[in-house]
Amino acid sequence: MQQLEMLIHQAQSLTANEQEVERMMQICNACRYCEGFCAVFPAMTLRLTFGKADINYLANLCHNCGACLHACQYAPPHEFGVNVPQAMARVRVETYQEYARPALFGTLYRRAGVAVVLALAFGIGLFLLLMMAINGTLLHPPLAGDFYQIFPHNLLAAMFGSVFVFSLCSLLFSVSKFWREISSGAGSLPALVETANNVLTLTYLDGGHGEGCNDEDDAFTLRRRRFHHFTFYGFMLCFASTIVATGYHFLLGQQAPYDLLSLPVILGTLGGIGLIIGPLGLLWLNLRRHPAHGDAAQKPLDRGFILLLLLVSITGIALLIGRNTSLMGVLLALHLGTVMALFITLPYGKFAHGFYRTAALLKWAIEKRSKA
Ligand code: SF4
Ligand code: SF4
Repeated sequence: MQQLEMLIHQAQSLTANEQEVERMMQICNACRYCEGFCAVFPAMTLRLTFGKADINYLANLCHNCGACLHACQYAPPHEFGVNVPQAMARVRVETYQEYARPALFGTLYRRAGVAVVLALAFGIGLFLLLMMAINGTLLHPPLAGDFYQIFPHNLLAAMFGSVFVFSLCSLLFSVSKFWREISSGAGSLPALVETANNVLTLTYLDGGHGEGCNDEDDAFTLRRRRFHHFTFYGFMLCFASTIVATGYHFLLGQQAPYDLLSLPVILGTLGGIGLIIGPLGLLWLNLRRHPAHGDAAQKPLDRGFILLLLLVSITGIALLIGRNTSLMGVLLALHLGTVMALFITLPYGKFAHGFYRTAALLKWAIEKRSKA
């Protein structure tokens, strides 16, 4: 049944953006100048023709580093008009839409800016109203950082737990559908280790020579890789802080608030700082990016996610600073509202690109071993 689904998908006609990638891959396959830049070109050379699944796979393997655009003798204004990163970016967002589950929500990728604003308004409004309903006021005497006097622990666990599980399942369903359609074999330990290394170090943002990718011009820079690392590891530290705090609560019976030098607070603070430096840097680079890189229509998708991460970290640090004041409740509502907006939009925003790219990198690690 799955194979039949895959064959039907392969036989489907290509969209205009997929046809554009197919055209460029035919040119690149004859040229092959960029073979050492990233995984896209070696994966391309394993193919003579490019079906829908091949194109979706290659599009998600591309990290939009810009190296092949700046190196290309056939780039605009040449009549061939080869712009691989832009063509790949246009197909990537189509794959997010096509594989999104529930399918109805796939269109949110096209309205990412609006979706983020609506989710923020909903999240912040929800927690401010909840606070009024539970406490009857937005201001209160200092509570020594005891959040649960404002919002009961079980209420928060139920609200965030259910939204997080829904978002995670939705993402996993979407990416597993993508995986089934592009997959070419079973994984192995070496392939998994290589993929983990490529994801955790962002290997393909090094331009293939270690000097980095292109941003606003022909110069190579590692800034984008560094700011991605601050963002990714900042997010992971915040996640670790939540896990550790949950363990303290349920396993050790230690209730929040935790001391400033406790493990959950240290992890959360370091993560919050990373999540300020990384997104600020990525936003700065995004604003300066060469106009021919990527797809200008996807700027709201990129910037909406970056701004949401920034708001989560800024409100989190503000809450830490103001947790012994009578404004703690309002700061808490603002922080929880932005976190809720992030959770709601996780499967339908830029966050999804990490999952799709990881799947494409794993396929590449499997594929290159099977063809060796
Ligand atoms: S991007 Fe340009 S230079 Fe690179 S392989 Fe394709 S056609 Fe050749
Ligand atoms: S933009 Fe970078 S990652 Fe994408 S195909 Fe070109 S060289 Fe590879």
